[in-house]
Amino acid sequence: MLYHSTSKKAPAASLQEAVTRGLAPDGGLYMPEQTGRLGDDFFKRMYDMDLQEIALEVAVHFLGGDVPTGDLKRMICDTLDFPVPLVHIHDKLYTLELFHGPTMAFKDIGARFMARLLGYFTSRDRQELNVLAATSGDTGSAVANGFYKLPGIRVFVLYPKGLVSSIQEKQFTTLGENITAIEVEGTFDDCQAMVKRAFADEELNRRMKLTSANSINWARLLPQSFYYFWGVAQMGRSADDIVCAVPSGNFGNICAGLIAKRLGLPIVHFIAATNINDIVPQYLQTGRFNPRSSVATIANAMDVGKPSNFARIAELYDHSHQDISSDVEGFVCTDRQILATIKEVYANRKYLLDPHGAIGYRALKSYLDGHPSETGFFIETAHPAKFTEAVKNATGEDVALPPNLARFADGKKQTVELPATFDALKNYLNSEKR
Ligand SMILES: *Cc1c(COP(=O)(O)O)cnc(C)c1O
Repeated sequence: MLYHSTSKKAPAASLQEAVTRGLAPDGGLYMPEQTGRLGDDFFKRMYDMDLQEIALEVAVHFLGGDVPTGDLKRMICDTLDFPVPLVHIHDKLYTLELFHGPTMAFKDIGARFMARLLGYFTSRDRQELNVLAATSGDTGSAVANGFYKLPGIRVFVLYPKGLVSSIQEKQFTTLGENITAIEVEGTFDDCQAMVKRAFADEELNRRMKLTSANSINWARLLPQSFYYFWGVAQMGRSADDIVCAVPSGNFGNICAGLIAKRLGLPIVHFIAATNINDIVPQYLQTGRFNPRSSVATIANAMDVGKPSNFARIAELYDHSHQDISSDVEGFVCTDRQILATIKEVYANRKYLLDPHGAIGYRALKSYLDGHPSETGFFIETAHPAKFTEAVKNATGEDVALPPNLARFADGKKQTVELPATFDALKNYLNSEKR
């Protein structure tokens, strides 16, 4: 299958080109030429299949022409070797817990699959690949752990010194092997600007093959569609009309859900739930898409002022505001409402939400209150122990550190310190290239 850019100015690309480039040369995001639909027989069998079996059929639908099924099967079994349970909370309200992976956030799934798909191409072609990622926390840990020890791939994670929580920092600075953590004397925006310049620098790109691991990569987006099918399969054949609420920042996660719907998955409606960075909810109401600087909130993995995957959603719906807003509605949540929700759901339902999931819960609860004949699940994107401070503020109790996170605590931090300039990064990368 070929991939085209949402900006329509770059030539069509093969799968390998699309996923090793990440961003198209015209600045657009790659989309498959066709989405198509999965067959009716799949939707009959789906309820009796497990997560890996479902994921394989969806992966073959998109990637089957480019990667042998046996290799896809191996990638999926390696990526999804942890449970993704649908948990009942109350009444007809459920959550799909995506936080049982190695860094306890849903980004594990996209990062692990992307790592294995790139690894397939580099080992087949005996290439070396260098992944650059700027992070304010979650992306760096998911990407570093996803690519850890993969042959032929080196990873450089840039992060702002002193501005990442210590649990998060440990998750990508203690690994060693093919993972290098670069501590930048600047902000997250500085890190991102350095990475962007690196991709645009011809001389550097002649010397080393560079790729980006952020959420604009198709290889990270596609595997996120798998779990929507699995969520619906766990609801069962006889469930009422299903709605799904997705806590959203860059809108990759919900975009994958909308792709699943396009393939025929019976989810009647999506709710795009954001913190006060409500660019997309505003668009859904007014038809005007006005990106602006992000504002810091306690659901900080969703502090995004220019949601990059929105370009894919717009294209999926042929830029029709009417069509998008008939499938998706927005919901906005303040920090106070997040804290109140964590507190209330913990007290009354004995379920501990993280700040991102709390936004999803509140959005779904409010929707279901007005639509009693429907049922739904929201996506829980991170384990509450990743956001101990906010959760303790809400409930007054400490959150125990689960073993997956505790195992990083004793590791030794190893970093390279650089000033926040592109020249410093370029010199460092050049000195690393043997
Ligand atoms: C990245 C992230 C999100 C937002 O996901 P998008 O795909 O960017 O919309 C939500 N919650 C958590 C915990 C995240 O790490």
